[in-house]
Amino acid sequence: MTIAKVEPFILHVPVTGSSISDSTHTLSHWGVVGLRITTRDGFVGTGFTGTHADLAGDRLVTACIASCYAELLVGEDEADITRLWQKIARHPPMQWIGRAGISHIALGAVDIALWDIKAQRAEQPLWKLLGGATTERLMAYNTDIGWLSIPDDQLIAGARQAVGEDGFRGIKVKVGSADMARDLRRLQAVRRAIGPGIMLAVDGNGRWDLPTAMRFCREAEGLDIFWFEEPLWYDDIAGHAALARASRIPVALGEQLYTAEAFSEFIGRGAVHFVQPDVTRLAGITEYIRVAEIAHAARLPVVAHAGDMSQVHVHLAYWHPASAMLEYIPWIKDCFEEPIAVVDGDFLRPQRPGAGTAIRHEAFASFAKSLG
Ligand code: MG
Repeated sequence: MTIAKVEPFILHVPVTGSSISDSTHTLSHWGVVGLRITTRDGFVGTGFTGTHADLAGDRLVTACIASCYAELLVGEDEADITRLWQKIARHPPMQWIGRAGISHIALGAVDIALWDIKAQRAEQPLWKLLGGATTERLMAYNTDIGWLSIPDDQLIAGARQAVGEDGFRGIKVKVGSADMARDLRRLQAVRRAIGPGIMLAVDGNGRWDLPTAMRFCREAEGLDIFWFEEPLWYDDIAGHAALARASRIPVALGEQLYTAEAFSEFIGRGAVHFVQPDVTRLAGITEYIRVAEIAHAARLPVVAHAGDMSQVHVHLAYWHPASAMLEYIPWIKDCFEEPIAVVDGDFLRPQRPGAGTAIRHEAFASFAKSLG
């Protein structure tokens, strides 16, 4: 029950096609940046965060783990997750330089690895360890067909295929262009292609200001938009609260929020309808659970963001009663020993002991980068 070794890693895994864009980001690879924790009796836990595969930035995360956190972990009982989370989060030198950002997501990777070991020791998948599944079916919605960089004809064909052939009952399309008319035209064409009754969400990735977002909501009102995700700058609580009051399209956000306290503020001020925590931006499963409970207490749905590409979130969503659907992006799934899988529009429930984070040797051989 003692931590013997902490080994950081960086993987850069290609996205679908050569690159993708939303209103704010363009990327060719997804970064899987984290660590493996080995115990003296031979258990290996894996935890990671999700990045845009910038090697210099990724090395800041692994340097934080190797230089600052490893010495706080080696020799400790890995089962004491809450105590170790506090030990790292409240470690004075680290607390001074960051209660969010790199130090926080690095703690998230540590926390996920500790939970992975706990579930392996219990010989249970994480969802079962946490208290068992609360739902028979967990709906998957497909984001990978909806990037802003996808030409109109391919967007429509992709939406049609996702719904008609692949069985998805929900999709998400990116908006936030400089040309709002283009976004609206594409959404109208997609709605026509998929028909009524399919969940259609949009995601602005924080690009627009409040008047622009309000105008979009007015224009898009007839399209039955399920939610408008990150309509405004990530930290703008007052703006999101104003939009939530003014628009009939529900507001979704959370993938850029670092702490339970931030979620608490947005929820308390009526600035969010769909709560979207990300276990890889929060400080891991420990803090995700706090956020899910805060949302649930406010009777709001929790729909996690796929920063982990849903390997961990599928466990958390099957377990938590506020979660009925989850984002699907397939970029990194084949790196894992038990990859996420969608059948008839629903995520399969994971069966292997652990948190779903064990990475195949072949993925390290193909995608690993030097730690510098
Ligand atoms: Mg998003």
